[in-house]
Amino acid sequence: MTSVPQPQSQSQPEPEVKSGIRAAVRAVPAYPFVPTDAPIKLDQNENPYDFPAELKAEATRRMLERPWNRYPDLHADTVRAAIARYESWDEAGVVVTPGSNVLIKLLTELAGIGQTVLVTDPTFSVYTLEASLLGAKLVEVSLNADFSLPVPELSAALEREQPGVFCIAQPHAPTGHLDTRADVEALVQVAERCGWITVIDEAYYQYGGHDYRDLVRRSPGTLSLRTFSKAWGLAGARLGYLLAGRDVAENAQKLVSAFNITVLGQAVAEVALEHPEYMQRRVEEGIRERERVLAALKDHPTCQAIPSQSNFFLLRTPDADAAYQHFLQSGVVVRRQDKLHLLQGCLRVAVGTPAENDAFIAAAQALR
Ligand SMILES: *Cc1c(COP(=O)(O)O)cnc(C)c1O
Repeated sequence: MTSVPQPQSQSQPEPEVKSGIRAAVRAVPAYPFVPTDAPIKLDQNENPYDFPAELKAEATRRMLERPWNRYPDLHADTVRAAIARYESWDEAGVVVTPGSNVLIKLLTELAGIGQTVLVTDPTFSVYTLEASLLGAKLVEVSLNADFSLPVPELSAALEREQPGVFCIAQPHAPTGHLDTRADVEALVQVAERCGWITVIDEAYYQYGGHDYRDLVRRSPGTLSLRTFSKAWGLAGARLGYLLAGRDVAENAQKLVSAFNITVLGQAVAEVALEHPEYMQRRVEEGIRERERVLAALKDHPTCQAIPSQSNFFLLRTPDADAAYQHFLQSGVVVRRQDKLHLLQGCLRVAVGTPAENDAFIAAAQALR
């Protein structure tokens, strides 16, 4: 008779792990995302359209032309120059990394470690994750119930806490809310006076019709974070950048690993920036589709689709788990956000292609 290995008894204690791993790292759970297969993928706020085939071909041609045995530019200099031209920005104020998530880590290293990271609650999870991992004091201030920035409470925290990094996203993630320029300017003014590094995360700015470059230009401690992952449809290429004054950019650049943009990344960014019209057309369609979906759900008997200035929106349902499963069975994967402060019952839904949005609307209309 062959012996079958017995499962270890539940009561057997785990051997005590001894290692040099910092307690802060051990305490943080792994990034909370479970890839889920479904024909219609509305769970990551991606662009529903791939990079245009002819631009892919052109980027590939340029990549093939360049040597692969040589290191690429030290600080992605050709890409920085192209971004500087596109954004009408001083090249010395541009820092490029493989995705803007890398910049959030780097800015936490720049001004958060041993200091403070101030965010709203809820907020984009990467800000709080990096603060916890890197050992910054995390201060969270509740958004107002309508998801607007609580200006008095945030101002008080900016005055009270030891300065560090102050992160706001405009439009906000994960609510899609866009604040007034007056509110953002008031907060930046306090943050500048108290010596904070202010991050205005503009990952979705194309969908909100606003742009904080002018404010960043006048505010030496404030920067804009931008990405190729959303409007440009290049999440797979991993490209993000910041626009800042010289002092912030030069110090942030010291924290970037050398040669971190590959020959592929360089070629893709250059080709994309030479053809912004494809991105612009998609943004226009995305905004039109967002408004169409929101209008279609306006009179829903049990769910509330929350207006958004982004490429996604929140759907408040009576039962997020049941609603999530209902959409999945209809072939649509969305993202649960219902465990977050103020977001009871909420699912986050990306705006897809017109056909994908039709499928989402049909599934939503069958939801009670
Ligand atoms: C998607 C997103 C980003 C972009 O991250 P990348 O690393 O550039 O892909 C940044 N900030 C927010 C709030 C986002 O939702």
